Amino acid sequence: MTEPTKARAACLIGWPAAHSRSPLIHHYWLRKLGIEGGYNIEAIPPEGFAEFVLHLSTHGFVGANVTIPHKERALALSLPDERARAVGAANTLWYEGGELCSTNTDVEGFINNLDASAPGWDQATEALVLGAGGAARAVVFGLLDRGMTRIHLVNRSIDRACALADQFGSRVEPAIWDTLADLLPRARLLVNTTSLGMHGQPALALDVGLLPPNAVVADLVYVPLKTPLLAAAEARGLKTADGLGMLLHQAVRGFELWFGQRPQVTPELRALVEDDLTKT
Ligand code: NAP
Repeated sequence: MTEPTKARAACLIGWPAAHSRSPLIHHYWLRKLGIEGGYNIEAIPPEGFAEFVLHLSTHGFVGANVTIPHKERALALSLPDERARAVGAANTLWYEGGELCSTNTDVEGFINNLDASAPGWDQATEALVLGAGGAARAVVFGLLDRGMTRIHLVNRSIDRACALADQFGSRVEPAIWDTLADLLPRARLLVNTTSLGMHGQPALALDVGLLPPNAVVADLVYVPLKTPLLAAAEARGLKTADGLGMLLHQAVRGFELWFGQRPQVTPELRALVEDDLTKT
C-alpha cells in the first residue's frame, strides 16, 4: 500500500506576522497552477526563532519566508547565497540536499520589476538611490550586478551611506541630502528606498522636474500604491516602477524553490493584492 502523499507547505515566519500579503500571493499561485500545497503564517517570537528554523522540516515545512525581526538571524542560522550575504539578511529559506539554504529575493524582486515595468532602464549608467537601509543594500547589489557604472547614494545619516559604499566599492558614492539638486539632473534612474512618502511618514520632498527627460523612477513604498513621487514622475511622462510590483516579483523565487514551478506575476494577481491593500 502506498502512503498518501503529504502536500508540501511553506510558511511566513515573523513577529508580528499577521498583516503580510504573502499568503494571498502564494495561495493564488497554488490555485492557478493546480498544486496541492499550503502556505501558513507562523508568528514566532525572537526567543523561539532558532528552534523553529533549525527544525523547519520537523514542523512540516519545505521552506519559509522570513520577515521582521528575524531576517538577520535567518542569515546566521542557514547557508546564505551571495545575495543574502551582500544584503546582510535572508528572507527566503529552502532545503537543498538536507541543508537549510537562504537567499534575499528583494534583489531580483527589484530588478525583475524594473525589467517588467520600465524596459530599457538598464541603458542608464548613473543612478541615484535614496536611503541606506536593508532595502537599499538589495537595490545597490542588483544595480551593480546589472552593470550600473555609478550609484549616488543619498541618505539622511551619511555614516550609514558611507558604510554601504565601503561594502560595495568605488562605484557607490555616498552623498548628503543637500546635494540632491545637483545629482537629480544626472540620474537616469532614481530609486526611493527610504520610508518617506509612506502612509504616516513625512513626504519625500524632491523636484522630479530636475531629472533628465528620459529618467526612470522607482519607489519601494507600496502604501499608498501610487506614492506622490510616482504620481509626479508619471505626470512628467517618466517611466515608473512601483513597490507593489517589487513585492510580487520578490515572491516568485520562493514559490519556485518550494513547489517546483515558476509562477507568473499577472495583472490578475496584482489586482487581487491591490484590492486587499485598498481594503485595509
Ligand atoms: P530601514 O533599514 O529601516 O531603512 C530606512 C531608510 O529610510 C533609511 O535610509 C533611513 O535613513 C530612511 N528614513 C527613514 N525615515 C526618514 C526620514 N524621516 N527622513 C529621511 N530618511 C528617512 O528600512 P528598509 O528595510 O530599508 O525599508 C525601507 C522602505 O522600503 C520601507 O518603506 C519598506 O516598506 C520598503 N520596502 C519595500 C519592499 C518591496 O517589496 N516593495 C521591500 C523592502 C522594503 P537613516 O539611515 O538616516 O535612518
